[in-house]
Amino acid sequence: MTAPRRPKLAVWKFASCDGCQLTILNCEDELLAVAGEIDVAYFPEATRAVTQGPYDLSLVEGSVTTPDDAERIRAVRRQSRRLVTIGACATAGGVQALRNFGDVEEFRSIVYAHPDYVRTLDRSTPIAAHVPVDFELRGCPIDKAQLLEVITAFLQQRKPRVTAESVCVECKRRGNVCVTVAHGTPCLGPVTHTGCGALCPSYARGCYGCFGPADTTNTRSLTGMLVDLGMPRRDVQRVYRTFNASAPAFADESARLESRDGGEP
Ligand code: SF4
Ligand code: SF4
Repeated sequence: MTAPRRPKLAVWKFASCDGCQLTILNCEDELLAVAGEIDVAYFPEATRAVTQGPYDLSLVEGSVTTPDDAERIRAVRRQSRRLVTIGACATAGGVQALRNFGDVEEFRSIVYAHPDYVRTLDRSTPIAAHVPVDFELRGCPIDKAQLLEVITAFLQQRKPRVTAESVCVECKRRGNVCVTVAHGTPCLGPVTHTGCGALCPSYARGCYGCFGPADTTNTRSLTGMLVDLGMPRRDVQRVYRTFNASAPAFADESARLESRDGGEP
């Protein structure tokens, strides 16, 4: 009797730092169990062995920043039964989306000795801006437990149990003392997507939003509170323009803060 075919997994890289792919490798023990259930068919960061597509599940890291990558992601989508984006770059353009608020031509002429060799787009965009995406896993980098849940869910053909509540909810679950209430420390927890286990507040630091926006956010209201805590409006704008600068909830609020009146109410 022949063994049942194992689902084929592919891991793709676009513009990114590889940190989310490293999270896959960091799964270590769990990865062995997962590898027993799937055929790691394409994962250049882990192995040179390549099995041709189509693939049952593609994990995509990174954003689209070049014309070639805009073509490549369409080819990846055509080969993938399910496509999941992993990390802040793939889901929200990443740190490199800071270019979306500046002049790429100017950057190119300043940074590179031969800017004419650089073929780039003037914006860094998430994968979902180019092709349909079955699930977006947030974080910079992603959380190992959430990643394993997503892979397991797709193997079991069910919806991943990854909630989009805020870091504050996780903070309460851990029994943390709120750094804002107790110490007046600015914290993006009320508008940030859960997944890290409220890591920073657990060490008495404010959250700076590396998991991107939660599903229901009121960034404008939080801006008012951060300013009341003494944070200059320019710094509030900058904190929205870090890892997830192009995520709509953060991008809109940072643009409002950039307006001539500095987003004054
Ligand atoms: S410390 Fe931050 S994340 Fe935790 S409850 Fe307070 S505001 Fe929310
Ligand atoms: S910045 Fe916020 S989302 Fe990122 S690890 Fe710290 S608490 Fe978690």
